[in-house]
Amino acid sequence: SRVVSEGSSLELEVASGVGDHGRVVDLDHGDPTMYEMFWKRMDEETTIVIPGWQSISYFSDPANPCWFLEPELAKQAVRIHQVVGNAVTENRYMVVGTGSTQLYQAALYALAPHGEPGPMDVVSVAPFYSSYPLMTDFLKSGLYKWAGDANLYDKDGPYIELVTSPNNPDGEPRTSAVNRSQGVLIHDFAYYWPQYAPITSAADHDLMLFTVSKSTGHAGSRIGWALVKDKEVAMKMTKFIELNTIGVSKDSQLRAAKILKATSDSCKHMSNPKVENFFKFSFNQMTERWAKLRAAVRKSGLFSLPDFTSDWCTYNQQVFQPQPAFAWLKCEGEIDDCQGFLKKHKILTRCGKHFGASLKYVRVNMLDRDPNFNLFVERLSTMSLIE
Ligand code: PMP
Repeated sequence: SRVVSEGSSLELEVASGVGDHGRVVDLDHGDPTMYEMFWKRMDEETTIVIPGWQSISYFSDPANPCWFLEPELAKQAVRIHQVVGNAVTENRYMVVGTGSTQLYQAALYALAPHGEPGPMDVVSVAPFYSSYPLMTDFLKSGLYKWAGDANLYDKDGPYIELVTSPNNPDGEPRTSAVNRSQGVLIHDFAYYWPQYAPITSAADHDLMLFTVSKSTGHAGSRIGWALVKDKEVAMKMTKFIELNTIGVSKDSQLRAAKILKATSDSCKHMSNPKVENFFKFSFNQMTERWAKLRAAVRKSGLFSLPDFTSDWCTYNQQVFQPQPAFAWLKCEGEIDDCQGFLKKHKILTRCGKHFGASLKYVRVNMLDRDPNFNLFVERLSTMSLIE
């Protein structure tokens, strides 16, 4: 009964080797449940208890432009950046959000000029994260609107460009594509962590978004943070969040702070010496999964995957190829609808069209639990057109 309450009954089926054949493997969403196995071993280091009298107030740090930011979260976010070396934190304002999803919307609100006759265009190079167009246009804002692929953008005038690096869905490192003087940039660094990609330098941009969702895997805590150079922009983002949700759950912020602390400590071997460095653990998991996936793709002969360029990682102190959180899988040959083809084999993925790309592509979550991931690669390796 313990196994059932911790996972799903489907996991039980896998564990006992019964019923795999007809089981649906859902790799559509980017749910980072792979990390569960690491955090189960870190019970003591990561458990927090919040007594009923604590964290009652709306306010966390009234003197901070982001008055609902818990100082301990700010401290631990800065520390993890220093440990990993993936972002410059000096001379920045930090804004906390309910996931980087809320911060993205806050950033659009803050960056789009108010009082203009028409909304500001928002672009990103295709394939782009499928939620960007949906989130941008959901409320039909008068301030900004989705304008599609940045590579096709040739209008004069101001615009916002989203730079996601490494990119969701294809894992490529990205820099700004439009590069005109009137563009303002939002850098989404959800995946700029050393288990996915070489950390080549400390990112140093005007507005950078980070999240615990893909760094430590705590997507359910819904905590993200923005590093913002300009005080006005940080204050406008704060205003957006104030009007949207009057701040961000303190309980979640305190939990995220504890998780980030445990993560940094694990890198410095300051916690239980028997506990592995979190980024080593996750790096090794990703290396193993990508090797398994590439072997399955070779064996089946029906698909292809992107080839990546290796780079030196200042954190891992080694050269390696990106090993992204998603596989951008292409159906080769006569299969035109890759999502439909995989669905017939009971594998759910997200169709390329949602990312501004062709139906020949799908995005596959690489961060599911072991039994699901293993079943996926096993099925992929035995697929053939004759079936
Ligand atoms: N940006 C990118 C590129 C993402 O892939 C995701 C999650 N899928 C997010 C932002 C949103 O993350 P969060 O859980 O922090 O809202």
